[in-house]
Amino acid sequence: MDCLFCKIVSGDIPATVLYEDDDVIAFEDIMPQAPTHFLVIPKRHISTLNDLTDEDASVVGKLQITAAKIAKQKGISEAGYRVAMNCNEMGGQTVYHIHMHVLGGRAMTWPPG
Ligand code: 5GP
Ligand code: ZN
Repeated sequence: MDCLFCKIVSGDIPATVLYEDDDVIAFEDIMPQAPTHFLVIPKRHISTLNDLTDEDASVVGKLQITAAKIAKQKGISEAGYRVAMNCNEMGGQTVYHIHMHVLGGRAMTWPPG
C-alpha cells in the first residue's frame, strides 16, 4: 500500500521510534511544531477518523493511553501537553493514516489556528 505511515510501520522508511507493540507505534514527528512532538498511530491502516468502526475502539483507546505514557516518560505530563487528531482537508490532515499528535514543552494556544 502506498502509505507513508504504513512504510514506517514496515520499516521501509526510517523513523525515531519511541514505542512499539503489536497494535501501535509511536515515533518523533519529522517537522516538530513544539519542543516535544511525537505521533502515535495504529499499525493497521485506517485512512481517516471517518473510517473508524466499533471494532477499532480498543486500538483508538490504546493510542491515547500510549500517548499519555510516553508524555510521562518525556517529562511533559505535569506541565501539560496537547493531543490532536486531524481529519480530512479542513481538519488539516496531510497523511491519510490516522495519527495522534502529542505536542508539549511550550504553552499551547486555544483555539488552534
Ligand atoms: P497531519 O497534518 O496529517 O495531521 O500530520 C502529519 C504529520 O506527519 C506532520 O506533523 C508531519 O510533520 C509528519 N510527517 C510527515 N512525513 C513524515 C515522515 O516521513 N516521518 C515522520 N516521522 N513524520 C512525518
Ligand atoms: Zn497506512
